[in-house]
Amino acid sequence: MSNECVRPVVPARNPRARLKRGWALLFRPLLKLERMEIGGVRLKEGDYIFGFPDEWAKFQERFPDFLKAFDALAETMNKVRVRTFTPENHPVDETVFFLSSLVFEDFTEVWIMAGNGLGTGALKVLRGMYERAVTAAYVSRFPDEAKRFWKYWSIPHRKLLNHARELHGLAFLESVLGQDYMKTIEHEFQQVRDDFQETLCAKCNLTRTMFSWSKLGLPAMAKKAGYGLEHCYYNAYATPTQQAHSTVLAVTSRVKRQPDGWFFDNSVQKVYAGLAIMTAHVVMLKMLRVENAHFSLGLDAEIIQRESECKAAWPGIENECGKGL
Ligand SMILES: [Zn+2]
Repeated sequence: MSNECVRPVVPARNPRARLKRGWALLFRPLLKLERMEIGGVRLKEGDYIFGFPDEWAKFQERFPDFLKAFDALAETMNKVRVRTFTPENHPVDETVFFLSSLVFEDFTEVWIMAGNGLGTGALKVLRGMYERAVTAAYVSRFPDEAKRFWKYWSIPHRKLLNHARELHGLAFLESVLGQDYMKTIEHEFQQVRDDFQETLCAKCNLTRTMFSWSKLGLPAMAKKAGYGLEHCYYNAYATPTQQAHSTVLAVTSRVKRQPDGWFFDNSVQKVYAGLAIMTAHVVMLKMLRVENAHFSLGLDAEIIQRESECKAAWPGIENECGKGL
């Protein structure tokens, strides 16, 4: 790599666009490096990094108020996350704690994606983040449901193993997993399958195994879960679902019609980056509320403060996906 095509890593053209602490932590190893290629990701000595520094700068310019709220949010998140976890009500406490651990991880993934200008990617992560937050809130409110959540595990696991068997053959799977593993899973499945049947036609008595552990659809579960989570459904699940699947809407959201034809145009990525980070901010706060309430962490005042920072960062949000903040 020649020296002509390299320039410093920190976007120096905009001195105000200082990397905030959360970002700086993440990128500290990069800051040590003197040179890199922007956009291309090749470093000296042929090492690679993954990201788009130009997009980082644009993100900071577009969402300065989110970044203002970010440090304090990260601190509160740490208080909720980095602590001794002593489950008392099994398996409810574990369900809430570990699902919410995933939500924390998802939140990081969302802002990494959004911060790199990959708005639809951020939305796809947000979708799972929302589903887990709703499930955690719901289980916290209806503790008896936790058993059912865990009980369902052998159904998707068996499905996955069956795909693997189709691809690799039973002999190979047994050589990897042990002779009895497939039989054990099949046995587990037979034990619980009757608890997870849904009726397709009452007249013919036609049923099938459910695709989820709960009979509630996600919107209904969100409503029952409380915390105003249902107001996030449209941004955090309905819209991302269209982007996550092979849909006409996913295609048309990137197509621009011009007099001389149709073009692929990904400018919606910018819109979705904003939508994703804004909604993820709200979902994260709701997750903090759930954990705070479930484990009596005593962080009420602090979370209220974080919520007011969220409202300042995204004006009007309390009338949209942030209803109930
Ligand atoms: Zn029928």
